[in-house]
Amino acid sequence: MTITTQSPTATPLPPEPAVIHEHYDMVVIGGGINGTAIARAAACLGLSVLLCQAQDLATGYSSNNPYFVTAGLNDLRHLRLAKLASHYRAIGQLKHSAPHLLRPINSVEYHPKHWSWPLLDAVHGLWQHPSAVVPQPSWRQPAELTAKANTGYQVLDFRFTLANALAAKAAGATIATRHRLTEGNRNQGLWQLAIADPKGRVHRINTQILINATGGHVQEVIRTQLQRDTRAGIKQLRLSHLILANTINLSSAVFYHSNTQQRIGLTPINQDWLHFGPLISPQEGPLIQQQMNQDEADLLSQLRTLSDNAFNLNDVKLCKTGLRAVCDDGTRADLSDLVLDFECPDGQSPLVNLLGGDLLGSYTTAKRVLRLVAPYLPKHCRNKKPTKQSLPGGDIESVKQLVAELSASFAGLPQPLLQRLAGTYGELTYSILGNAKQLKHLGQDFGHGLYQAEVNYLIAEEWAKTAEDILARRNGLSLHFSSEETEKLQNYMNSVLGE
Ligand SMILES: Cc1cc2nc3c(=O)[nH]c(=O)nc-3n(C[C@H](O)[C@H](O)[C@H](O)COP(=O)(O)OP(=O)(O)OC[C@H]3O[C@@H](n4cnc5c(N)ncnc54)[C@H](O)[C@@H]3O)c2cc1C
Repeated sequence: MTITTQSPTATPLPPEPAVIHEHYDMVVIGGGINGTAIARAAACLGLSVLLCQAQDLATGYSSNNPYFVTAGLNDLRHLRLAKLASHYRAIGQLKHSAPHLLRPINSVEYHPKHWSWPLLDAVHGLWQHPSAVVPQPSWRQPAELTAKANTGYQVLDFRFTLANALAAKAAGATIATRHRLTEGNRNQGLWQLAIADPKGRVHRINTQILINATGGHVQEVIRTQLQRDTRAGIKQLRLSHLILANTINLSSAVFYHSNTQQRIGLTPINQDWLHFGPLISPQEGPLIQQQMNQDEADLLSQLRTLSDNAFNLNDVKLCKTGLRAVCDDGTRADLSDLVLDFECPDGQSPLVNLLGGDLLGSYTTAKRVLRLVAPYLPKHCRNKKPTKQSLPGGDIESVKQLVAELSASFAGLPQPLLQRLAGTYGELTYSILGNAKQLKHLGQDFGHGLYQAEVNYLIAEEWAKTAEDILARRNGLSLHFSSEETEKLQNYMNSVLGE
């Protein structure tokens, strides 16, 4: 990688607002992992693509899960081998395309004693990772459950989403953040859409193909913006979880499987913070409140029982709640399975609604969506193969190797900073550091290892407009920042953005 000679603290010009054209081959609504992965795949085929996201990228569920992705023990127990195989294929793809976003982690899974494990019994020991069989300190094993060691991976979900958006942009897609779909109708073989921009102006555009990748809002978009009937069986779920101080120094994840198929777990985000959840309950209509309600209070008392009162209310830093839409038409054993709801009554302007699915499967999801709409693509794009290129920042051997290279090129910068940047941005770290030789070349210090150079890069290249965009969805430093520190960062950003 060549190092640019640009000064990392030169004040960036405010980025130009997205230019919205009148016609696109495909419009993708929703800038979570699925929307960005589809926009990337479609743009790489040569389609003209607009991705329209109501707020910042990854504000939905794609920055909210515990970063723990693993083949569920339920899949193994029920011998859902195809699902297990596709899971491991997806891990292989991510190892190849963005190794810095994937981290292995051990876990202990408590499950009812009467569960049987035909596959595990047949190939005993293959699944288990010996070092995972570590009873956690002050951890209570409920009498009705037994423990099984497991291994999985953590994925930096918001960076995965951002990397897909960057790849889509590089392939020519227009990424319109803070643009909301307000209306859509079919007319003469095209979708006519109204998109409201951050200033409230409405852009009227048309497209051949419309993709509704709005996660938990999928039903609301079908009913309200597109004014159509939803298919039977779309179920809206509310998922709640807590972020707590890691007062017990937990380094592996601990999961509980109940007889009702719910799996609830405590996962280390890093050495300072833990994630606990999710608690899943049905949700009618939009989600209004973000504060702790009775569900979350129950969640905390459940955690306290399981961990022998090792936690209390003061350890709770955040309570997060979000929506997920799944297909529950009575035929599915696993509601989280991806369902593509395809509709094309006029034979010309297809609509694909995405239900369920997961973070890790987004590459396969994008391939499935493109296969579904292939007959409606311009001829020159139909027979092209999906991209297998690395995601931006992911063209590296390993984070360890990258840190070694960065340490040689930026010997005057502290190791913890280089390690954080490498693990967050991969090879994009070079674009952030530019020609800096010492810390003073990185500009204003916002605290906790965040310098002006990183903020400038995120404003100029990654659509960041607010301090929260940066701390919650670009580098994950939000748990460390006080409100005063966040305000200082916002003031600086306002000065750059002219707001
Ligand atoms: C607690 C929890 C644990 C999970 N664990 C795992 C796991 O272990 N492994 C795994 O692979 N997956 C896991 N997942 C699932 C994974 O996080 C989600 O499947 C995935 O993030 C959904 O992505 P999405 O792009 O479909 O939706 P979202 O990320 O929700 O994105 C949809 C976006 O659409 C936008 N939008 C809505 N309406 C409009 C509109 N009118 N105009 C424009 N934009 C709009 C929203 O703002 C939102 O940002 C978990 C999820 C949760 C909640």
